Amino acid sequence: MGDQLSGARQRLFDAAERAGVAPDLFESLKYPKETLAASIPLRRDDGRLEMVKAWRCRYDDMLGPTKGGLRFHPSTNADEVQTLAFWMMVKCALMHLPFGGGKGGMSVDYKSLSIGEKERLVRAFAERYAHIFGPGRDVPAPDVGTGPMEMSWIAEAWGWMNHRHSPDVITGKPPVDGGLDGRTPATGRGAFLALDELREALGLGEDDRRIAVQGYGSGGKWFARFAQEAGWTIVAVADSSGTAFDGDGLDLDALDKAKNDGGSVTDADGVETLDSDAVLTVEADVLVPAALGGAVTEDNAADLQCKAIVEIANGPVLPEADDILRQRGIKVAPDVLANAGGVFVSWLEWVAGRSGDFPTNDQVNDRLETRMRDRAAAVRDMADEIDSDFRTAAYAVAARRLNAALEARGACEHNG
Ligand code: GLU
Repeated sequence: MGDQLSGARQRLFDAAERAGVAPDLFESLKYPKETLAASIPLRRDDGRLEMVKAWRCRYDDMLGPTKGGLRFHPSTNADEVQTLAFWMMVKCALMHLPFGGGKGGMSVDYKSLSIGEKERLVRAFAERYAHIFGPGRDVPAPDVGTGPMEMSWIAEAWGWMNHRHSPDVITGKPPVDGGLDGRTPATGRGAFLALDELREALGLGEDDRRIAVQGYGSGGKWFARFAQEAGWTIVAVADSSGTAFDGDGLDLDALDKAKNDGGSVTDADGVETLDSDAVLTVEADVLVPAALGGAVTEDNAADLQCKAIVEIANGPVLPEADDILRQRGIKVAPDVLANAGGVFVSWLEWVAGRSGDFPTNDQVNDRLETRMRDRAAAVRDMADEIDSDFRTAAYAVAARRLNAALEARGACEHNG
């Protein structure tokens, strides 16, 4: 595997160039501002000690405190964390949020740990990174493998170390602990709104309503719900064990029941079972990769049957695959737009934590809808302006905003 970060950066710089952005920006964003690698002790239930590798990257903080999730997964590594932090920077700029980009993670098979092991590890992680985190400095959130419980542990540990209750140090907390009800569904809701806003621009006709979803974590699950409620047909859903298929539309309650019972979506009653990669190539109008990065590759891009892709995962389409999709006329609503509903509602949660004034669920959902539609339209307009695909356009919108922040600091005058 090459260096993913250089590829991601090159894509931003190419887009920025097309949007007429000056080279100072490229120099400014050449390296992450700060990445702290650490090792965290994990005392297993049987008494053994294991050290776990961890990272937190604050890629850039021109636009505000760095913002981004924590990923606990065996494949997590420094390059991935830094790339994800870079994408958070792009996402927050595109979404007009007052945040820079950050990300953290641990390379650990977190899912397999007992609850006690998880709590010891996460509290130790919070202590180790307490000087990096902070409401006005670096504000973590959930990502793959983490959720409200982990956020609660970290908020509490940070509060103890800093002698104050600080709900604004982290987002994605449980509602009783300063979170917002709308935060967990926000990524899926936002992705659906992006699809709805861009439907025609993505080349989808009135009747192109069949959707295949790869991944049934909170993003994929909530997206499927919102899409189905709006009259779309979810024909396939996959998790790591396999694909559940029903050409007439899956019963999502049955999938949820199978998952809640500790099984796979393929255990749901009445579904046809296919292997887990089959979700990528089933006949559907829209493919929604909502699992890990790198799902659509040079090797499978030619086999996709869909007309459009909505990226809920971060980085699910590899750069070489993007070129093939472009040639095939398959349009992509890119991750930095399509999955940005999560960080948008994180911002509302952070504001609520700072002020103590909490919005209602309807207010959260209204604001999310307004912002998603507005930013999706900005991407569509930029694509027209620079005659590009939506990913390049999204990057160009973000690059112009980052560049404006640099100019506000006098970059242009300096260069004479
Ligand atoms: N992990 C999510 C993302 O990739 C959410 C980040 C956040 O809410 O800060 O966008």
